[in-house]
Amino acid sequence: MQVLTTIAETRSLLEKARADGRSVGLVPTMGFLHAGHRTLMDRSVSSRDVTLVTIFVNPLQFGANEDLATYPRDFDRDAAMCESAGVDVILHPTVEEMYPFGTPTLTSVSVAEVSAPMEGASRPTHFAGVATVVAKLFNIAGPCHAYFGEKDWQQLAVIRRMAGELSFPVEVVGCPTVREADGLAMSSRNAYLTPEERAAAPVVHWAIAAGERDPAKVRALVSDLISAEPLADLDYVEVVDADTLQEVDPLVGKLRLLAAVRFGRARLIDNEGATTAAPT
Ligand code: AMP
Repeated sequence: MQVLTTIAETRSLLEKARADGRSVGLVPTMGFLHAGHRTLMDRSVSSRDVTLVTIFVNPLQFGANEDLATYPRDFDRDAAMCESAGVDVILHPTVEEMYPFGTPTLTSVSVAEVSAPMEGASRPTHFAGVATVVAKLFNIAGPCHAYFGEKDWQQLAVIRRMAGELSFPVEVVGCPTVREADGLAMSSRNAYLTPEERAAAPVVHWAIAAGERDPAKVRALVSDLISAEPLADLDYVEVVDADTLQEVDPLVGKLRLLAAVRFGRARLIDNEGATTAAPT
C-alpha cells in the first residue's frame, strides 16, 4: 500500500493504472475509520482493481462554530485498517495541498434544493463544502466508481445529483449503513459521546425504525420517542422523497425518514427507508 500526500502523484498513479486496463475505486473519508468505512473499502477492493482511500478533514464543510479543530484523528490506526482491507493507495493531503489558494475558496459547487432542507437548514454551508471537496476528489481520481455510505443519505443524494449534472466520469455507489449491535449507526463522532449519552443514543435508530410502516404519523412518533430520552435534543425529523429530499404530500412512493439529534457535544444523524403504495 502506498501513502501519498500530493494530488499530482495520485493522479499519475491512477492514470497509469487505467492505461494498464485496471479499474479504479475511490473511497472518500475524513478518517478515524470504523467498520462503516471498512464496508466501503471492502466493496471497492472486491469489485475494482485499484482502491484509493482519501483521508482528509475538509475545513470547507465545517461551520464556524463546529468541531473542525477537535474532529478525531488517528492516521496510523487508519492506515493499518486500510492495509488490512487490501487498499492500494491512501491520499492524505494537507489543507494547503487541497486548497492552495486558501479557504474559503472562491470557486464552490452548490447543489440547490437537495442541499436545502434538514442538514442544509441546520448547517447552511455544509453541503457546498462537501460538494466542492468531492468534485475535487473526482477530478483527482478520474474515471472511477466512488463509494459513499447511506448513513449520510442527504450527502449521497447531493453527490449523485452533482455527479450527474456536471458529467463527472464517476459511478456513485451507495452502501448500506453499518450499525453497532444495539442499532446505533457507526460514526467517527460517536467518540464524543459520554457513557450515558452512548447508552441513550440508539433511540435515534429505534425511533425512526418504529415509524417506518406509518409515515403519516412518523414525525410525531419519532419526536415523542426522542423527547422521552432526557439526554437527547431533537434537531429535526423529516419524511421526504428519497431522491429529491423534498417534502411529499401525499406520503406515497419512495420515502426516507431522516433525523438529527444532539447528545451533549455529539450531533448524530440517521435515516431509514420506507416505501408506501398509493391508496387503492
Ligand atoms: P466520513 O469519514 O464521516 O466523512 O465518512 C466517509 C464515508 O463513510 C461517507 O460516505 C459516509 O457516508 C460513510 N460512512 C460513515 N459512517 C458509516 C456507516 N455507519 N455505515 C456506512 N457508511 C458510513
